[in-house]
Amino acid sequence: MLNIILCGAPGSGKGTQSDFIVEKYGLQHLSTGDVLRAEIKSGSALGQEIEAIISNGNLVPDEKMIALIENFIASLPSDSKGVIFDGFPRTLPQAEELKRMLTRRGHSIAGMIELDVPEDKLIERLIKRGQLQGRTDDNEETIRKRLDVYRRQTEPLIGWFKNEGLHHRVDGYGELDRIFADVCQIIDSL
Ligand code: AMP
Repeated sequence: MLNIILCGAPGSGKGTQSDFIVEKYGLQHLSTGDVLRAEIKSGSALGQEIEAIISNGNLVPDEKMIALIENFIASLPSDSKGVIFDGFPRTLPQAEELKRMLTRRGHSIAGMIELDVPEDKLIERLIKRGQLQGRTDDNEETIRKRLDVYRRQTEPLIGWFKNEGLHHRVDGYGELDRIFADVCQIIDSL
């Protein structure tokens, strides 16, 4: 299985590049943000709890996220080509748990690709997305909070992946085709 992690700040293009990767490599796409938004849409009690967390720009607690990923991995078909993890892991405990879960099943993380975009460009992109898609967390105050959460809780993961020998970086600002070509070059080398 080719299990790839796309990592990057909010607005770095993880969703867009994931869609391209799925089309080219036939991997399954797990966007934890999409799964959480679907739970909110369902109107469940859990969804209401998650909505309050997301609209404040905070992270959903690790134990909830890990349970979600555990279910997802357990439900993967045996002939799965692999998974593109988009938005997970976002904390060190999530990364360690993902590694454990995959190892237990005889799989591994093939690599992590960091999409690196300057902060002022991220804010520009997210404000534009908020106007187009109406996501409740794409307003300037929550965007700044999410970027701060990213710097404090998710960015330290880059060092963890470097230690594991799994880190790859792509310049995530510029033409979509060039960014995707850089991503493909890394995937093809894994
Ligand atoms: P995204 O669509 O990836 O930007 O995620 C939207 C929001 O969902 C984030 O700001 C978090 O509140 C929550 N979320 C998504 N993935 C995770 C995760 N792995 N851990 C904790 N919270 C998450």
